[in-house]
Formats: sequence, C-alpha cells, structure tokens
Amino acid sequence: MHDSAAQVILLGDGMGGRPVPDLDGQTCLEAGDYPALDKVARGGECGYMDPIRPGQGVGSDTGHMVILGYDPFEYYTGRGPFEAKGAGIDVQPGDVAFRCNFASVENGIIKDRRAGRITEGTDQLASAVNEAFRDGIDGVEVIFKDSVAHRAALVLRGEGLDPRITDVDPHESGVEVPQCQPTAEASNDPAAQKTAGIINEFVQRVQEIFESHEVNQQRRAEELLPANIVMPRGAGAAPHLTPFSEQYGLSSAMIVEVDIVRGLGLYVGMDVIDVPGATGGMDTDEMAIARAVVQAAASYDFVLCNIKAPDLGGHDGNSEQKMEAIAKVDRAAGYLLDTLDWDSTVLMVSADHCTPVTAMDHTGDAIPVAFYGYGVRPDGVQSFGERPFAAGSVQRVRGLDIMSIMGNYAGSLPKFGA
Ligand code: ZN
Ligand code: ZN
Repeated sequence: MHDSAAQVILLGDGMGGRPVPDLDGQTCLEAGDYPALDKVARGGECGYMDPIRPGQGVGSDTGHMVILGYDPFEYYTGRGPFEAKGAGIDVQPGDVAFRCNFASVENGIIKDRRAGRITEGTDQLASAVNEAFRDGIDGVEVIFKDSVAHRAALVLRGEGLDPRITDVDPHESGVEVPQCQPTAEASNDPAAQKTAGIINEFVQRVQEIFESHEVNQQRRAEELLPANIVMPRGAGAAPHLTPFSEQYGLSSAMIVEVDIVRGLGLYVGMDVIDVPGATGGMDTDEMAIARAVVQAAASYDFVLCNIKAPDLGGHDGNSEQKMEAIAKVDRAAGYLLDTLDWDSTVLMVSADHCTPVTAMDHTGDAIPVAFYGYGVRPDGVQSFGERPFAAGSVQRVRGLDIMSIMGNYAGSLPKFGA
C-alpha cells in the first residue's frame, strides 16, 4: 500500500506549558494522568522542539507551517491568504488577501465589530457584494466570501497591487471607521496607493449595498444590530508554497480544528478531512477524530491532526480545563496506539506551540516532542512531560527538522549523496 511507513502527527494545540504554582510546580502535562501519552514516551524518542528558534513564540499558523517544513521567514505574509483559502476562495500566488469582519456602523462610528455576533444572512450579503463587484474595481478582480459567524475573507486579484496598506478595522468600537492608506514605508508607492484606494472604494460601496439590504431590514425589525459594513484587515500577498505532494512525494491529509490551519493545508494541497463532532471546543469528539486519523493513515502517506482544546485552557489561565483537554488528546493517542499497525507507522506527538496557563498566551518555550513506532529507538524516558523529556535522545530540534526526522523513520526521505 505505502512505499514507506505511514507518518502520523498528533498535536495537542498549545499543549506544552510551564510550572503551575497550584499544581505544586508541575506543568499541566506533568501533573495529569495520561497513560497513552506516557506509553508514547516510554516506547519513543523524546525531546524538545523549538518551532522557529529558541524563545520565539509562534501562532498556530506559523507553528504548523514549520512542522510541515515551510519556513515562515521565507513564506509567511500574514494570515489573510490562509484565512481566505480556508473560507473557500481559490487563492492564487500574487493575490492580496484580507480577513474581514461584518460589523455595525452608525454615522461613521463603529457600534459593534461583530455586527451583533451575526450568524445568519452573511451568505446573502456576500452574494450581494460579489454581484455588485462583478466588473471589479479599476481592472482588479474582487472576490468576497463569508466565513464562520461575523468573519469573511476578501481577495483582490490583478496587476499592480501591494499589501503594504493599513487595516480598515480600528479593532475597537466607539471610534470612526479608519480610511485605508499605504503603510509608512510604502507611503509613496503607487501600487500601495492604488490598493488602498480600491479598499476604500470597496468599503464605501459595500456600506451603500448593505444599508438597505433585506438581511439588515430583517435584523432591524428584530432589533438586532445591522451588518452594514465590511472591515478588511491583515492584508497579505499570497505566497507561493510548493505543494506538499511535490515537496515530499507523499500523499497527505489534515484533520484539524483551527480554520487558519485548514486554510494552510488547503493552500499546500493537502486533503482537509472534516470530522463530524470535531468542534474545536472542550466538547469536541476526540474519539471521532482519532478514528478519522486511523482511517486516513490507511490511505494517505502522511496525516496531520490537531486537537484544539488544550490551547483554550491555556489562554483562559485555567489549569483544570487544560488538563481535561490534554486528557482528550491522551484518549485520542490511546486509540491510535491500540489501532495503528506499528510495523508500518511512525507517530509524532507534540504541539504547535506552548500555551502556559501562567502566561495565558503562546510562549516561545521549547515544546515537548516524542516520536514513536516504526524505526524509532526508545530512549528510556518514562513519562510524557516537559521535564522528563530533558533526558530524551531527541534533545532539541527545530520545527523545520520535523519532516526530515519523520521521513527518515518512515523511509520516505531520499539519502543525500551517493
Ligand atoms: Zn495553536
Ligand atoms: Zn492559542
């Protein structure tokens, strides 16, 4: 079936952490009872991963990029392109992509950046936008798509565009809608000026279309805030990333709960598998996710899975919640251990970054990483955690090393030299 062993990566989003005073100075990984993760550690090679370089915290997007072997310093141009791809727009290299919010504005002042947390009707609003801009603006194609809740994505396609422009989103309510303009470094750049002009015209005309749109008539009748403006932000030029299959000669699938990571997967041509019950929250069905991973590993050379929940407790500073979430990752790992064929599968268990409950944000701490299964040389580490892994044979690797380490175990990485 496979020419080489199947490669599976299981990430607990933000799973690594720091000592927690309430846990007697243990981390959430060290303090909890995680039998499957410990089994991975006992049978595996353990150590640390620095996603980019020691101390450099990353986002979920750049954290996944490095694990897949794409250097963010070379390729990362902001989250706009991945967000747009995740929303279902066919983003092409050279496009300028934006994340957007549907928002509520009154007399030029932002009343609510999320349009009363609108959940319905945004598809109709998006259709109205695409209809109105069928002929583009100044010869530039305009592609707009609604995404989850109040979110949307916008892509500009054409000659002479530049992403060095400011956000139309003030990131707070009660203030004026800012005009889009070139950033300071690009203030005299004609392409940046042109792009800013297109965005200002877009925002202006969208307001006119939305003001009287039936979705908003309905919302006003129900005393809901209207979605009467779209605020683009985070402009980024779509990078050219070599497709995953071309880069590694592997067929690949992604089972993840973070939209922007899904967008990255689609961007590099991975098959993104939807799992019913995978919610991205604490109520996610980790067993359904684990079953989907096992199923995918039977037909794909490479499968990447991310369970989002641990990151949430980290951001909330809630160690109990984070430990419950890690227990979900542990149960998923347990199913993989019981079900996959370990004579022809190599597994990595790790995270895309650390989200310590004491920091309530992503940090640049080295992330615990363990390799298990085919080709791996167990190193004597007995349990899964930040400090036990200090004794592991992997020691400390960079995120960009992961694909070659996995490819070596699996036998998919060609040797260098004769
Ligand atoms: Zn993450
Ligand atoms: Zn996070």
